[in-house]
Amino acid sequence: GYLASGALLGGALGVIAVLIYRRERSFERQLRRAIKTGDLTLVYQPVVDLDTGKIVAAEALVRWVNDRGETVKPAALVSIAEERGFVGEITTLVLGKAVEELGDLLATSDFRITLNITAEDLMNGRFLPQLARSMLAAGVKARSIGLELTERSTVNQEAAIQALSQLKKAGHTVYIDDFGTGYSSLAYLHRLDAGAIKIDRVFTQTVGTQAVTASVVPQILDMASKLRLLVVVEGIETREQADYFRAAGSGILGQGWFFGHPVPAAQLMKLVQQAPETLLTT
Ligand code: C2E
Ligand code: MG
Ligand code: MG
Ligand code: MG
Repeated sequence: GYLASGALLGGALGVIAVLIYRRERSFERQLRRAIKTGDLTLVYQPVVDLDTGKIVAAEALVRWVNDRGETVKPAALVSIAEERGFVGEITTLVLGKAVEELGDLLATSDFRITLNITAEDLMNGRFLPQLARSMLAAGVKARSIGLELTERSTVNQEAAIQALSQLKKAGHTVYIDDFGTGYSSLAYLHRLDAGAIKIDRVFTQTVGTQAVTASVVPQILDMASKLRLLVVVEGIETREQADYFRAAGSGILGQGWFFGHPVPAAQLMKLVQQAPETLLTT
């Protein structure tokens, strides 16, 4: 009857919960191993100065090539690592690899890279010294390495705010990533005293459409200009979008498939050495 089917349902849900739990634990184990064995790699996505079409920077994005040869996108691994408290190991790996792969370029030019970090990294006392040490060893200056924090990661602890202000004092630029997707954007900007925003691609993709959010874009740009924030526009996929933001102001940077997908370091270096006009005239 009713009771029996209720028990049956409860039992089935319990089994499903256990299965999901086991899957997550096994994913976590594989990920922890991949961090140790170096199976996490980096790709770099070009960031272009829209005024000149020149690649002036790149964002480092982590990739995991698993046992089956599949490339796992970072969203899943970063959230598991955050949940289980070991995202710092990913940050350490990313920092080490980025400096190893692009240190010479950074030390000998104005080229910059950005790394994605989380509030947990800021809370971790080892992060700042580690960053300083790897830069010193490679002869890289703080202005060559920017740090991206998503609007969703909540930096509200005193220790994290202290760490941010130290980063800024050292000369790093702090970027608010996925700008516009969280709430309290202005409050967050103020609290973090960030130097740059990365406009999320949901806004980029409304340009030239009838979407109500399209009307927010000029306001974001206006606010950024008044606050003297550097602007990076994410997710530029079409020429129309690139042209829109090029016309919308000066000194705006763009990133997206229109300019280039994330690529391994060697490929990025080739792209950087290309003629400046290439990305806007082809
Ligand atoms: P994000 O920092 O906002 O990075 C931009 C994401 O948009 C990347 O996805 C990139 O491949 C994708 N993208 C770039 N251009 C376009 C475009 O034109 N169209 C579309 N549809 N997508 C585009 P990806 O590599 O899958 O990374 C997802 C997120 O994972 C990142 O978002 C970042 O928040 C996080 N992440 C990546 N690497 C790391 C890392 O090393 N550490 C941490 N903590 N988080 C990371
Ligand atoms: Mg980012
Ligand atoms: Mg982003
Ligand atoms: Mg984004």
